[in-house]
Amino acid sequence: MSDESLRTSEKTPFIPVLAGEPEFRYVAGMHGNEALGRELVLNLMQYLCREYKKGNQRVVRLVTETRIHLLPSMNPDGYEAAYEKGSELAGWAEGRYNYEGIDLNHNFPDLNNIMWDTQEMAADKSKVPNHYIPIPEYYTQEDAMVAPVTRAVINWMQEIPFVLSANLHGGELVVTYPYDCTRDWAPQEDTPTADNAFFRWLATVYASTHLVMSNPNRRICHYEDFQKHNNIINGGAWHTFPHVSELPVEWENNRESLLVYMEQVHRGIKGVVRDKLSKRGIEDAVIRVEDHEHDIRSAADGDYWRLLNPGDYKVMVWAQGYHPSVRRCRVGMEPRATVCDFGLTKTPIQRLNEVRTKGGKLPQDLQLRLRALRLRMLRASTKTLNQRRQRKARSPGGRRGVSSKKPQR
Ligand SMILES: [Zn+2]
Repeated sequence: MSDESLRTSEKTPFIPVLAGEPEFRYVAGMHGNEALGRELVLNLMQYLCREYKKGNQRVVRLVTETRIHLLPSMNPDGYEAAYEKGSELAGWAEGRYNYEGIDLNHNFPDLNNIMWDTQEMAADKSKVPNHYIPIPEYYTQEDAMVAPVTRAVINWMQEIPFVLSANLHGGELVVTYPYDCTRDWAPQEDTPTADNAFFRWLATVYASTHLVMSNPNRRICHYEDFQKHNNIINGGAWHTFPHVSELPVEWENNRESLLVYMEQVHRGIKGVVRDKLSKRGIEDAVIRVEDHEHDIRSAADGDYWRLLNPGDYKVMVWAQGYHPSVRRCRVGMEPRATVCDFGLTKTPIQRLNEVRTKGGKLPQDLQLRLRALRLRMLRASTKTLNQRRQRKARSPGGRRGVSSKKPQR
């Protein structure tokens, strides 16, 4: 089941909805030999279709309220290489890379360090963009060592405003959360994101519903190997290509985790940023949550999702040509997002420019506001000018002739 079958409504003309659906994605098989993720995603596809048809309320809700994107095999050439050897013979490196020898997991740009470097050099840290960081120029070059599939996935991520995603790897039983990089190439360092609390929640949600991770008495297969070896294992001996007989139990172990993780896309706050007058959604509006130094932007219809843990938040929204807007939004304990809509008012200058480009006449209210605005600006500039003249007159070298004092007769 590709996105297509899950999202047949996309084939029909666009029907505006009060709040759209958040975009979610699972990517597996980045390392071709780590076959478990691929099998889990394929199982998930079948499960969602089957349960949806059966009318399983949980799955119906998940499918109708979420745009689900599932990519089971990001590195199919690596998978084939590992598959040919089979689970007994395939080693740690067999099929890990793509046919060009590229490790896809390390083929994406390190935007974290670009952001950290810019912040370190900036005089005012708050002015440095904390989101939408452009990919390095190197990635745009034809001869760059960037795999076609990496380019395709980057493109995919730019075109679709994903709210939540996860990559499935194999060979270790652990949930990791960002950032994945350390600063300045330090070998090991805790590098929390602005959303550390929520990422820890997400990791906990997955781990606590995983049948093996959550149960200390149910340690099986790989984990036992690690325990025997004091939790360390030689990379070459690391068994990543599971035997076919292991797959059903692994699906059972991960099924609830995969579902509950997807459901987390419906947490925090969501809403639509609209033009107060026309009620049209505003694209690319910046949504900032106070004390969370990672802004997000509204999608094409003005809808947005900001994942947050329960709490009270001050949320600021601004967009080009509009006055900013601030409101408080409360996130409760219940597993659904709080609706927090914003109506923005256009600045007079923006409206004036729009009227001018259309070659139309200025509406009455805009003319009055413009008149008042210009008068205020004139008064302010006159005041500054007069103050400057006064200072000049008082200073020893100042010209005597220009003074605000009454001329003496
Ligand atoms: Zn991997």
